[in-house]
Amino acid sequence: MSQASTSSANSKVRCSCGNYAVVRTVRNGPDVGTKFYGCPKWPHTTCQLFVPVDDKSVVEDLQLKLMEKDTTIAELEMHLKFNENRLEELVKKNKDLAEEVDNLKTEMWEQKMGSIQSQTNLKHLSMGLFVALIAVFLYCKI
Ligand SMILES: [Zn+2]
Repeated sequence: MSQASTSSANSKVRCSCGNYAVVRTVRNGPDVGTKFYGCPKWPHTTCQLFVPVDDKSVVEDLQLKLMEKDTTIAELEMHLKFNENRLEELVKKNKDLAEEVDNLKTEMWEQKMGSIQSQTNLKHLSMGLFVALIAVFLYCKI
């Protein structure tokens, strides 16, 4: 067999040792430049698979690989878009929650102030009553 270089794996052709054949190019000899399906284990095998590949099927194989790549890119873009939307949702939700916390803080502050105010009012009221009682008491004494 001539010297060869591996260019790509092919899933259509299997060699006698049971492995999927790879496409190689003849490096020297009279068939130099010829593409062929060969054993992936070559030269460490006794397997002598040599099936010439016509250029058309190599092009088809490459087109198929290109389509597969496009599919992968499309899937990744979809995934990215999905994650971007998810992130946007989370950012919005986070903002909403922050606003809610602010509202709650304001509400709590108002309630606290209101409670202090009513305590003060109660204190003033008791003081007033006390003064009134003393006044009544003094008035009765006279
Ligand atoms: Zn083989």
